[in-house]
This record gives sequence, structure tokens and C-alpha cells, in this order.
Amino acid sequence: MRCPFCGNIDTQVKDSRPAEDHVAIRRRRFCPACGGRFTTYERVQLRDLVVIKTSGRREDFDRDKLERSIRIALQKRPIDPERVDQMISGIVRRLESMGETDIPSKQIGEIVMETLARIDTVAYVRFASVYKNFQAADDFDRFVSELRPEGAPAEK
Ligand SMILES: [Zn+2]
Repeated sequence: MRCPFCGNIDTQVKDSRPAEDHVAIRRRRFCPACGGRFTTYERVQLRDLVVIKTSGRREDFDRDKLERSIRIALQKRPIDPERVDQMISGIVRRLESMGETDIPSKQIGEIVMETLARIDTVAYVRFASVYKNFQAADDFDRFVSELRPEGAPAEK
């Protein structure tokens, strides 16, 4: 790691310890050339996922969009919000561990349906019924708006 003060490349790690509840490693470094001290953090870099739509168009995977669609499907259902967070993280981890960075949108929809089916039947039916049209439309924004229960305020 290059010293931010003098540019020397040969810096030393003086101390490494877990930080942020073991999500990161904090390293204290020392530069023997100028005596400078600095700190670096090491984190897991998850792969960037790309969604392949049925039209063949590619789009960066957007966790927020996924989360929005799931939360709308689960609206007014008696599901603990923490459980929803866990569910979304679980889906993302599954996608990340599939060994491919390019994932067909269809496959994502199927994983979501499979997961919802285990958690809440009503939410599953809501999601699945819209998903069937969605495959033809292949338009996530439209998908989300169709999922939105009538009369519910639009979420921005
Ligand atoms: Zn230095």
C-alpha cells in the first residue's frame, strides 16, 4: 500500500483487527521512509451483478428495486420487517453465489417467488400474478406499479 504522504510503496502493517462487527479489517500502517502513519480498511467486494432481460438488454442489478418489489408484495402482511431484510439479503447472496455475474431476469423472479412462497402465501400470489404479465412486458418499473395495491400512494 502506497504511503499517502510521501508516495513510498514499502509501508508496513503494524496492527490488524476486526472492525464494524467483523465486516471489515482495520489495519494500522507505518511508512518507514517518512514516518507517516495511516489506517486502511479491508472489506469484501461482492461481484457486480448484471441482469439480462428477456429482450436481451443488460442492466446493473439494483438491490433497491428488488427490495421495493418485495416490500410491495408484502404490504400489510404480518411479516416482521427484520425477516424481510433477511429474506432480501438471502436472495442477493444466492444470486451472488451462482457463479455467474450475468443473471437472467427470469431466474431472479423465480428465486423471489420461491422465497415468498415459503414466507407468505398472499404475497407470493401477488408477486406471481404480476410476474406472469411482467415476463411479457419485461419492464421492472411497470412491474412495480402493477404490484402496487390500488389506492396505495406511489413510493418515490
Ligand atoms: Zn511515507
